Order: sequence, then structure tokens, then C-alpha cells
Amino acid sequence: MHGRKIWPVPVQKIMPYEAIEEKRPVALVTSGPAWEAVKCKLNLPIVWRTNVKMAMADYWDSLMENFKGEVIYAVGGGLVVDAAKYIAMKQGLEIVCLPTALSVDAITAWSSAIRVDGCVEYIPTKIVDELLIDFEVIAQAPSFIRAAAICDLLSIATGRWDWKFAEEKGKNTPETKFIPYIDHMAASILEGAIDCAEAAGRGDQEGLKQLLDCIILETQMLNQIGHARPEEGSEHYFAYLAENLVGSGKPHANLVCPGILIIATIQGQDIVPLKRAMRYCNIPLNAILNDFIEEILKQLPKYCTEHGLLYGVAHELKKDDWEKLSFKKILN
Ligand SMILES: [Zn+2]
Repeated sequence: MHGRKIWPVPVQKIMPYEAIEEKRPVALVTSGPAWEAVKCKLNLPIVWRTNVKMAMADYWDSLMENFKGEVIYAVGGGLVVDAAKYIAMKQGLEIVCLPTALSVDAITAWSSAIRVDGCVEYIPTKIVDELLIDFEVIAQAPSFIRAAAICDLLSIATGRWDWKFAEEKGKNTPETKFIPYIDHMAASILEGAIDCAEAAGRGDQEGLKQLLDCIILETQMLNQIGHARPEEGSEHYFAYLAENLVGSGKPHANLVCPGILIIATIQGQDIVPLKRAMRYCNIPLNAILNDFIEEILKQLPKYCTEHGLLYGVAHELKKDDWEKLSFKKILN
């Protein structure tokens, strides 16, 4: 294709999952706990089912053995949606997404995150064709995951700082050059996320709706500019490297949030409002041991260069920058 495609965000329908009427044979992509949480509300003609456990393309290919169905239903969190988008692309089918929590922004994005050689890559897949949201279900999700997608909004704090930093250092490419009004827009979305954190965290449906709005607005903003610099920077690089050291399987937010607080401190930012929002959304900040944090910060500059990550404060970290920090205090 010539030119550049700009993706929309998915059509969203706010409705009780009990009200879904589906006639087409359904291929279900889910995970054990997510399915248990909603199966009694659903009456779907399921002809094929897979449970997703990992984020790797060849693994997703292997799941498609004996595939059947005319529409794909993704029931669950980020990993499930990412795999379902991949399968839907390969099968040329529509995908209906029923999130069981607002855990990551994968429900709105057109790419799927996969693990390649110890880093995260985003492969273009497709958007979900219908995003059905039952706020009653989301309100009842386990508290630490219910509103965990706030991590990809709070990361605006450190992401936009990095974006501006890279601009000042002459490190932005023409495609990712700093755009002041987008930077302001990102700051407003961050404000919206901080503002709804308390309500969303305790499962208030209006709070969760505002969190969804922030995710949607952020996604479309990133789609328009064609990159994720306002939202993804050193805090995500920290989280990707952390995953190598502590193992995958931890929720994205549990690795990104400590990254935000540590990187924001190094950047000289006030972390109080960010930490408060994380607390409200019940995100554990103790997923990475202190010794690992030191190791991550030590390895981070080399890791960023080796994986060709977009320029940020992580590329220039020196021992001086973090040696005197109390990680315990930052994450407590
Ligand atoms: Zn993220």
C-alpha cells in the first residue's frame, strides 16, 4: 500500500454482556479466570475455544490448529485481546471484544505486543471490530487489575518528558518530532486519568467510564501522529527489561508503574500525584526487588541502544543519577 493508513479506535457499545445476541458460530479466545468471571452471563454458540498463555507469534500460530468459527470473541485482558487480534487477522474474521477489566490499552490498539529476544515488539494486526463494555463486570474485576490500564496513561508523565528531552538533544527523527500541541493534549489526558483514578480504582462506573475515555482519546491521538512517544518512553523500557529479570506473567502495570516512579524521580518530576493514582488503582509497587531495580538501571542504557528504542533519559543513565536514590522510599 502507498501512503499511510491511520487507524480509528474501535466502535464501543456500553451494554450488559447478558444482552449479547450472537448467531454466528463463535471462536472463543480467552483465559481461565476471565472466562470463569463472565461465562454465566453469556450465551454464545461456541464452536472452538483456546486459552492464551503467552505473547509469541509462533505460539499463537500453534493455537490455530483445527480452527473453527465465523467470528472471534476475545474475552479477557491484554494478552487475550492481542492474541485474538492476531488470530482474527490470519483468519480474516471480525472480532468482538469483551474486556473483563480495564487492564491495558490493547483493547483499543491496532497492534499486538509480542516478546522477541527479550524485548517487546508491536506487530500490526487489526483493531477489534466491536468493543463491548459492561461496566458492572469491570467493576467486579479483581481490584489490582480492574483499572490497571491507568499505567499506560500515567506513563504520559515520563513519556512526554522523554519526547521533549529527545527533541532538545536533536535525537527525534522527522517522523517523531516534538509537537507542542500534542504534548499539551497528552498532558490533558494524563490529568483526566489522575482525576478519575480514585473512582475507577474502587469500581465506580462513572470513574471507569472516564478511564475508558482517556484510553480511547490517547489511542486516537497516537494513531494520528503515528507513534507512541507521548506515552511510551524510559518507563516502558524499564518495564521490558524488568520482565527479562523477574519473568513474564506479571501484569503490565506492576512493572510499568515502578518504572514510572523511578524514571520520573530521575527526571526530577514530582511523583506524589502519580503514586497516589497508582495506589487508588490498587497497583502493587513491590513486584521488582531492590537488587533487580539496580540491575535494571545499570543495564538500561545498553539495552535501549541494542534494541533501537526511541531516545529518552534511559539512554543516558549513569550510576550517579540513581545511586543515591532510595527505591524503598520511592515505591512506598
Ligand atoms: Zn504499556
